[in-house]
Order: sequence, then C-alpha cells, then structure tokens
Amino acid sequence: MIEFDISLVWLRRDLRLHDQAAFSRALESSKAVHVAFVFDTGILDALPSQRDRRVEFIHGSVAALKQELEAWGATLHVLHGPAGRLVPEFARAMNAQAVFCCRDYEPAAMRRDAAVAATLAGLGIAFHACKDQVIFEQDEVLNRAGKPFGVFTPYKQAWLKKLEAIQLRPWPVQPFCDRLAKAPPAPMPGLEEIGFQRTDLQALGVQPGAAGARRLFEDFLSRIDNYREARNFPALKGPSGLSVHLRFGTVSIRELAAAALGIGGAGAETWLSELIWREFYQQILWHHPRVAEGRCYKLEFDAIEWPDPPGHFEAWCEARTGYPLVDAAMRQFRQTGYLHNRLRMVAASFLVKDLLVDWRRGERYFADHLIDFDLASNSGGWQWAASVGCDAQPWFRIFNPVMQSERFDPGGRFIRRYLPELARVPDKYIHAPWSMPAKVQAECGVRPGREYPLPVVEHGSQREKALALFRRAASAKAGARLSPSGRPG
Ligand SMILES: Cc1cc2nc3c(=O)[nH]c(=O)nc-3n(C[C@H](O)[C@H](O)[C@H](O)COP(=O)(O)OP(=O)(O)OC[C@H]3O[C@@H](n4cnc5c(N)ncnc54)[C@H](O)[C@@H]3O)c2cc1C
Repeated sequence: MIEFDISLVWLRRDLRLHDQAAFSRALESSKAVHVAFVFDTGILDALPSQRDRRVEFIHGSVAALKQELEAWGATLHVLHGPAGRLVPEFARAMNAQAVFCCRDYEPAAMRRDAAVAATLAGLGIAFHACKDQVIFEQDEVLNRAGKPFGVFTPYKQAWLKKLEAIQLRPWPVQPFCDRLAKAPPAPMPGLEEIGFQRTDLQALGVQPGAAGARRLFEDFLSRIDNYREARNFPALKGPSGLSVHLRFGTVSIRELAAAALGIGGAGAETWLSELIWREFYQQILWHHPRVAEGRCYKLEFDAIEWPDPPGHFEAWCEARTGYPLVDAAMRQFRQTGYLHNRLRMVAASFLVKDLLVDWRRGERYFADHLIDFDLASNSGGWQWAASVGCDAQPWFRIFNPVMQSERFDPGGRFIRRYLPELARVPDKYIHAPWSMPAKVQAECGVRPGREYPLPVVEHGSQREKALALFRRAASAKAGARLSPSGRPG
C-alpha cells in the first residue's frame, strides 16, 4: 500500500538488493525510492589502519550495488561524513517523507539510529527500522519464564520450534523496481578519497558483493553434506567462508537458512546450528549490552585480575609461542584476516588460559584485524573461549593445545602450510617440536629455540594457575551468597 511519495533507503550492513527487508518495504510503500550509503566517519575514523580489508570489501560491495541500481535507471547516492548528520540532511534534500533501514543491534549503532530517528522526527520525516539480518531478533525467542536464554542448546531448540515458513520467505523487490527514483549515475568517492588504501583482498581471492557471496555459497552447497565431519579440521576446506558476507549483508540469512533446511541431513543441520549460534550471540548482545563493553556475561569473572605477563601477548600476536598449531593459526590470521573456527577457539583459549592474558586484549586484536569482525559473535566467541561467557561447560575444562593439534591437524598439514620452517619435522613431533630428540633435530634441520621458538610457557603449570584464578573468583561469588552465619542466605 502506498504511504509515501518519496522515501529513502539507508544501506548499512545489508549490502544487497535482493531479499532485503528495508528496500522491499520502502518500494512497497512509496511512489519513488532513493537509495543511499554513507561511509560513516564515526566508524572509519576509529579504525586502526588505513589498509583495512573490510573497508575495501565494503567499497567493492557498494560499487557493485551502484552498478546494479544504474542498470535499473536509478543510482546509489554514496556519501562520506558523519552518518548521524548526513542521513537527515540528505533525506530532507530528497524531499523524502520516510527513511527505511535494516535494524542493527550493536549498542553504538542503536545510539546512532536513535539520534537519527529523533532528528528526522524533528523534520517531520518517518524512520522505519526493519528486521533483516537475523531470522529471530531481540526478544523473539525467550524461555518459558519469558527470560532470555543464556545457554545455546535450549535456545536452538526454541528457535527451531518457533520457525515457520513465513520467516524464511524472501522480501519481494523485483515486482516494485519501477518505483526506484530515476536518476543519472551519482559520483562515488574512491577508496583513497575516504582515506583508505587498497589491500590484498583480491590476491586473497575475497570477492565482495552479492556475486562474491553467491560464488562461495554455490561452492559450499557442493560440499555441505561433509560439513559435520570436515568443519573441525583446518587443513580441509570444510566451512563456507561466508562470514564476511553475513557480516555485511551481501547474502540473505533467510536464503541460507532455507537452503540448509531444504537440503537436510547431518551436514546441513550442523551448518544451520552455526547460523543459529550467530543469532544466539546477537540476542545475548541485545539483552546484555554490557558484554560489548568488556564486561563478562558471568559477572563473577569480572573480578579476575589477569596476570598478563610481559611479552606474552606479543608472542601470541607474532606467532612465536612455540606451540605450532597456535602459531600456524596466528600466521593464517595475520596473512588473511580470517581464522578457522577451531583455530579461533584454540588460539583464544591459549591466550587466556596458557598465557594468562586478559581475554579483552585478544578480543580487541581480533576486532581490529578480522575481516568478518562482528561485535556479537566476537564478544560471544571470546567469552566462550575464556569461560566467562555463555558456555555450558564449566571453567575447569581447559583445552590442551597439543592434544587439540593432534586431534584436529593429525598429520600437521595445516601447521606445515603456515609454518614452512617445520615442514621437515616428522609427524610424531610436529605438535610438540621441543620433544624431538637431538638426532631427529639434526635430521630435519629444526632445533627448538633456533629455527623455531621453544614453548613460551609450559601448559601443565599454566593450567594450574588459570584454574586458581577461576577458583578464587568462583568461590568469592559463592562466599557472597552465604549469610553471615555461613548458611546460604
Ligand atoms: C574467539 C572467537 C571469535 C570469533 N569472532 C567472530 C567474528 O568476529 N565474526 C564472526 O562472524 N564469527 C566469529 N566467530 C565465530 C566463527 O569462528 C566464525 O563465524 C566462522 O569461523 C566463520 O567462518 P565460516 O563463514 O566459514 O563459517 P561456517 O562454518 O561456514 O558457518 C556459517 C556461518 O555461521 C556463523 N557461525 C559459525 N560459527 C559461529 C560461532 N561459533 N558463533 C557465531 N556465529 C557462527 C557465521 O556467521 C558463519 O559465517 C568467532 C569465534 C571465536 C571462537
């Protein structure tokens, strides 16, 4: 039903034109629709480097959208500056009566949107934020007591129970395309003009835009049946690699979930579970925004004072811990900005529970360099790995980095790919090269402490120290629950 003469779609982390809630709703309810994207200096100015793969990914995706819109006789208006000011100004300049966008659940984005909505209201312009990047948002999936879930498995069961075909239905766009406001191609600032430089994105084979997402998804569909087995082994091409596309909305979550449900079987079911993990962390962030501010989901662990010994964090970042799987992971991360999920867990656990570094430092480092950085998943993943977040496992279960390596990279294929200096180390010693007898060292030409670092810490003793930190914080909480008489209060 037509409600507005002119409206504006403000694109953000939803960089596609198909199955896009805000775009569809604007087209359905307006006679003429303009589309804009803002390179928001409020976000860009805070980035640590001018060579940022994410900015190049966004730039490429925006350029592709512009081309797509121009093929329809419309254009994409690409602005650069503070979005909070530019969006209302541009809406007014276009004589828009409404601004449509897809909802963002990050605290800073919610503050920005509230400010934009208030400015627009002052101008007499409506603001419509729509659910798009998740199937279920905010408090749509709650437990029987009406409270948010803090454990994944019951959340997933409730999520699946609530799912109906309508939630997976694509938002229609094509039938209304003639309502796009006709316009000559608008100028678009180059990457340098917005203060950034080209990166190695292309060399890494990362293709931005919906076309990049489609290519990855089609490739993944041919191997989705093996996902359950393959996904844990970093040397294999197990996962989809779609995280950067989900982050920037160059793919529709409805399309992915519908495909997984339609295909069925163990592989697709496991993959759907991962998509649900993403929503689990989104709702945790929405219900408990403190987790984005460095506060633990499990409040008692805010009291832990992490020893943070000098040099440990740097050894981890620079891939010289002496634990091959951890170092290979950190090399992959430094070289590509991507890290396999198993390796995110191993590297994060090692930083916190072996190196005794505050998990917030690792979280920040990932946030600065991950191409798929997502506040909710990163904070959730780090807190999970540090045992301070939403984990059904108790804090005293600690990953053994050597056993993880033996189990998930049995022949050391992944290790050798990223640590070529260990290429000739026999399989038997690849996970713990410090244990090589002198004769084997001479044969393979690797002397621990020379060609490859000695372990920066000893797992067994560090594990005990980590347990002591947790034990102290957990018993302080238990003590606080006791009444002065020593009985539970
Ligand atoms: C310490 C740590 C930090 C992480 N930081 C991020 C982050 O910043 N951004 C991010 O997207 N994911 C993060 N993850 C989750 C996960 O590692 C990545 O989503 C996954 O490795 C991306 O690869 P993929 O697209 O090939 O995944 P696939 O295995 O193909 O999974 C499909 C999609 O499901 C979602 N997903 C998969 N696993 C998880 C998970 N454990 N939690 C939440 N969503 C998941 C992702 O959107 C992913 O693209 C983190 C995990 C850990 C342990």
